[in-house]
Amino acid sequence: MDLIINSLRKSYDGHVVLDGLTHTFPHGAVTCVAGPSGSGKTTLLRLIAGLEAPDGGSISGVPEGGISMVFQEDRLPPQLSAADCLRCVLKKSPSREGRIADALAALGLSEASGQRVSEFSGGMRRRVALARALLFPSPLVLLDEPFKGLDADTRRDAVGFTLSMLAGRTTLLVTHDPEDVADFGGVALRLDGTGTTQR
Ligand code: ADP
Ligand code: MG
Repeated sequence: MDLIINSLRKSYDGHVVLDGLTHTFPHGAVTCVAGPSGSGKTTLLRLIAGLEAPDGGSISGVPEGGISMVFQEDRLPPQLSAADCLRCVLKKSPSREGRIADALAALGLSEASGQRVSEFSGGMRRRVALARALLFPSPLVLLDEPFKGLDADTRRDAVGFTLSMLAGRTTLLVTHDPEDVADFGGVALRLDGTGTTQR
């Protein structure tokens, strides 16, 4: 089922962020959401995730089965190791440890697997947050600037891993990086900062 937002409105203290936004996010595909800082990209993800309520309009087609999200901030429990952060999102199964090891290897984090994330660099934490979201087996994936702070090499690993994990999952990728837009198939929704939309 497509994820459909219709005439979505959201304001904060009289400041209009989304002013009747309508868009269809196709089932199982990646949609890049672009736009300048403050144009409402994070607000849109939070509304879809149910973390905020809209002032008007509707959101339909949010699938049963949970939502994976990379927040704009990493939000990792600092005392956990990288591997433990990933164990949190996977049920015990014979394949669990192998899947965690594979994800950490794909992201260049094998050697840091048992280390606490509080000791990590920002880029390492970003990759753990990304792996946590992608390993959680949900049909809807919301990624808020997921590659922020990564250098060229780690970004390439992260993009490759992300592409390998998104098959069949409806995905919103918020970014203002033209490289992300190129890697994930072109911008499909641009918020212009006036609360209305350009395509
Ligand atoms: P983007 O992610 O595109 O940079 P945001 O969705 O974070 O934009 O923010 C859009 C606008 O809404 C900004 O002006 C921001 O200051 C405001 N805003 C976002 N969240 C809140 C909030 N909880 N309270 C007040 N204003 C907010
Ligand atoms: Mg934002």
